[in-house]
Order: sequence, then structure tokens, then C-alpha cells
Amino acid sequence: MSFSVQILGSGSAVPTSSRGLTSQFISISSRHFLIDCGEGTQTQMRRFGVKFQRIDAVFISHLHGDHYFGLIGLLSTMNLLGRVKPIKIFAPKELETILNLQIEYDGSRMSFDIEFIATEAKQETVLFEDEKVIVRSFPLSHKVPTTGFKFTQKEKQRHLLVDKAKSHGVKFEHYHLLKSGVDVVNDEGKEFKSIEYTLPGESEKSYAFCSDTKYSESIVPFLKNVDLLYHEATFTEEFIDRAKATMHSTAQQAATIAKMANVGKLLMGHLSARYEDGEQHIEEAHPIFQKSEFVEDGNTYPV
Ligand SMILES: [Zn+2]
Repeated sequence: MSFSVQILGSGSAVPTSSRGLTSQFISISSRHFLIDCGEGTQTQMRRFGVKFQRIDAVFISHLHGDHYFGLIGLLSTMNLLGRVKPIKIFAPKELETILNLQIEYDGSRMSFDIEFIATEAKQETVLFEDEKVIVRSFPLSHKVPTTGFKFTQKEKQRHLLVDKAKSHGVKFEHYHLLKSGVDVVNDEGKEFKSIEYTLPGESEKSYAFCSDTKYSESIVPFLKNVDLLYHEATFTEEFIDRAKATMHSTAQQAATIAKMANVGKLLMGHLSARYEDGEQHIEEAHPIFQKSEFVEDGNTYPV
């Protein structure tokens, strides 16, 4: 799977025997990212066979403890295992101060560089981009500044119609340009249009992560048509007042956002410890958005 999401923790606030605190492992075109890092994330990684040193970057949505208290432990383990590869941490700016204090008082020197990139919870921002992947953040509505993240796998190169290109005299060195969508001209001045010599490649795929947030239709434009959406669904309708008070969402609200954004599939998570499982959430979400499920720790979902 060149683009997948593995759930490392899907509980909210306190861990239970079946659910760790929020964390997800994203594999996208051979890049490996961690979203959030609740306490116990490194133990969950061991349990589910996720290699620590593969992680290139960590994205922290907000500074509530159940989303980042596991980070210093994970970094410390990476250090003990002799990591040398630098790591990027995208997070609210205060996290740099917190981690630096923890590292300073620990007294050990990290064997690798940590690059902090402060996130901005006011508008959509491109956090990271290379030739295969683009990661954006966007604002959520929660008790403290919180961002969602959107991971997009860029469109694959177009497929070259090799026989046609050969018979029409396209130069070999122009093949890769045509595949990238660029029109070319040969030495005799004849033009070859990419669209006439190629077929479309696999289209862009995207995954959006929304935790934690109250019901907010203002996020819909950021989620429009994503293939896979994770939206927190801490509560069922019975506890809608509690959802409002704590700035969290219900399963119906998550499903409504998924429907409005026309997403391919909805994953719900961040289960309140008052529930044994997500069955009631699924029952409430299905009439609004059929392609909904409640995630389980350890499961991997293709995008
Ligand atoms: Zn929170």
C-alpha cells in the first residue's frame, strides 16, 4: 500500500485496555509520518510492529496531553537506539519550549537534530512539500489552538504511449517531459503535445485528519472530496451537551461533515472511555453517511 493510515491509539483523554491515546502512523509514497503522540504511543508502536526510526516527521494537532505526552518518550527511545537521521516536528510553537526543557533536565544529548516548525491555527498552511507529497494544516475549533492535517499524494506521472511516440519520431530524451505533462518540440520544430502522447496517471489521493474539534461546518472546504477522512466522534447524541461543553463532536456530527464534504470514507475515533466500543456511534452515523466506521487500534486503512 503506497498510502495508508495505521491507528496506534483511538481513545480520548484516558487510555483503556483496548484503546491507546491518539496517534496514527501514515505511510505515503515511502515517506513515514506520525500524527499526534499520546502517552504510550511508543508501546503501541512496538505492539503493532511500527519501526521507530522510519518516522521522518511528527505532526502534533494541539497541546492537550492526550495528543502529545508520549513524544518525549519516543524521542528519548530514538536517541537510545542511536538515531542519527534528523526529525521534523510540526506543532504549536510552545511545544519547542516544553521539549527543550525536558531534554535539558534529562541531561543527555540527542544524537540527532530536531527541527521544529511552528503550526498556525488561523488559516490553511502548506507545512511540507516534496515531489511526491504535500501536507497542509487547517484550523479546527477546540479549547486550545488546534490544527487538522491533510496529506495529499501527488498525481502519478502520465503513461506514455510508447509505440505512438516512437513512430512519430519523438526523441527518447523527451519521454519523461511528456510523462510530466510538458509539451516538447523536436529539432525540426515539430511540436508534440503531452496530452496526445500520454494517458492520465493515477489521480491524486488525500487523507484528512480532524481531532479534536467541535462541530464546525467551516472545515468542510478543507475536506472537500478527500478519499479518506478521520473525524473525531468522542460522543453519541445522548451526550451532545457534553460534546458542546468540551468542544468535541458526536458521531452524527462527524457523519454530517463527511456528507457535506463528499468524502470517500469516514473513519471515526477518539472514543470517550465511557463507551465499551464504537457500535452505537456507527449506528448513529450510518443513516447520515453510510461509508462510516469506527477505528480500532492496530488496524491499517488504505487511502
Ligand atoms: Zn483536545
